Amino acid sequence: MQIVLYPHPALRFKSVPVTQITRELRETVREMFDLMYAAEGIGLAANQVGLPYRLFVLNLTGKKEEPDQEHVFINPEIVKRKGSQEAEEGCLSFPKMYGQVRRAGEIVVEAFDLDGQGFELSIDDLASRAIQHETDHLDGKLFIDRLSEADQREAESKMHDFESHFRRQQELKVVPSDAELEAELRRLAESQRPPQ
Ligand code: ZN
Repeated sequence: MQIVLYPHPALRFKSVPVTQITRELRETVREMFDLMYAAEGIGLAANQVGLPYRLFVLNLTGKKEEPDQEHVFINPEIVKRKGSQEAEEGCLSFPKMYGQVRRAGEIVVEAFDLDGQGFELSIDDLASRAIQHETDHLDGKLFIDRLSEADQREAESKMHDFESHFRRQQELKVVPSDAELEAELRRLAESQRPPQ
């Protein structure tokens, strides 16, 4: 498992709901936390590791030594948004790129944890921003879509660099073609169908 970088097609794939919490899924979640810590992030969505499942992990401390701050959001839905705030964001799929993003200040989110228990949270500040950023990922939306116009222009050359690096890796066959990657995403999404 590794963190995929823009413009990997997984980042634009709309994730499918998780239908079963299996041992495999728990292992996936553990690996996602470890990758997130290694990359010095505070949140990571499943499609950022090439898995089209509606879940993300979060630890706002970014520290492996604080496992009680780990949260798993399975099938999250933001059911209320209030206010508006602009702040700087980055994303593990866009290393070293940052920009100002306007988002709701307060939100209410509903989700399930790894035990299959539903929960609801009312939150603001950093947690609210991180949860909106990660939930966007599950819908195939990226923070670059929400940058201010000035920041979008500024980001263009970095985006171009990400794009040419990725295409180069595809030419060298280090990374499969978009068509192959998309076929794999559809296969994985299909595998989440509820058992008959
Ligand atoms: Zn991100």
